[in-house]
Amino acid sequence: MECLFCKIANGEIPATIIREDERVVAFRDLSPQAPVHALVIPRRHITTLNDLGEDDAALLGHMVLTAQQIAEQEGIAESGFRVVMNCNREGGQTVFHIHLHLLGGRGMHWPPG
Ligand code: 5GP
Ligand code: ZN
Repeated sequence: MECLFCKIANGEIPATIIREDERVVAFRDLSPQAPVHALVIPRRHITTLNDLGEDDAALLGHMVLTAQQIAEQEGIAESGFRVVMNCNREGGQTVFHIHLHLLGGRGMHWPPG
């Protein structure tokens, strides 16, 4: 599978793993945009948000809960954080294996760029 995040999920490419379980892997972004910048990905390859179905609802919920746990662990739960998922070109998606960004440790701006 020629997918960067599949390779990170199966250990072929190194990453700084924060949490992992049978369904998801969370690791630090290589180019952090905030003091805390983690990515939460499903182990199973899903290309974009457009490919999700009703059967994936629990997986997506689990990804959000994983982000919540990392926020707690990183000490940004109370100060606040942002979760973002980009879809396709205009959404700013550059890696085509879905991922949830967890950003925190600084004030976030709205609207995002
Ligand atoms: P996107 O733009 O698709 O929403 O986010 C992709 C993210 O993956 C970017 O924030 C980028 O910095 C990160 N990224 C790209 N390649 C790697 C890599 O090899 N390792 C890690 N840890 N992050 C990566
Ligand atoms: Zn993949």
